[in-house]
Amino acid sequence: MFQSVTSFVALFAIFIATGHTCPSIINRAEWGARPALSTTTLTKNPAPYVVIHHSDTPSCLTFTACKQRLQNIQEHHMSVNGWEDIGYNFVIGSEGTVFEGRGWGLKGSHAKPYNARSIGICLMGKLQDNNPTAAQLMALESLIECGVEKGKITTGYRLIGHRQATKTACPGDKMFRILKNMPNFEPKPR
Ligand SMILES: [Zn+2]
Repeated sequence: MFQSVTSFVALFAIFIATGHTCPSIINRAEWGARPALSTTTLTKNPAPYVVIHHSDTPSCLTFTACKQRLQNIQEHHMSVNGWEDIGYNFVIGSEGTVFEGRGWGLKGSHAKPYNARSIGICLMGKLQDNNPTAAQLMALESLIECGVEKGKITTGYRLIGHRQATKTACPGDKMFRILKNMPNFEPKPR
């Protein structure tokens, strides 16, 4: 745990020192997404909240494995949950690849009552007992900063875990402990 936070802080320092560029994002066509049944724009755009999730599925360590996992998650969200699309705005693989879910500016299905005013980002893995990878945390920070730069997330955004929105263990104890040390973490979301 301590090591993970330390390496995250080190990576974040490198990130600050080198300036920012948006991470490359694997778009829907590239991961073989089904088309959304419908889309709804955010009520508040840029989004004032960023909500973090874990997939609660095993980590995916290759692009091929993450792509397959993503298709399974979308299938579950659409066919079982009956949602119009994959629930999240973005998903980050265990190897740090950023995948487009619903993308920027669109309302997701991931954390009532924040869906219309947040960007929902899911980290692959069972992060109750496992730490996210350093590559995932680096990608997460980069994606959030990218959203701020593009005017998709407010400058003073509030970062929260899914468990702060709804009664759930998501994004897992290990991830939530890291989240609490990240920039803009909001202990008391409204
Ligand atoms: Zn969640």
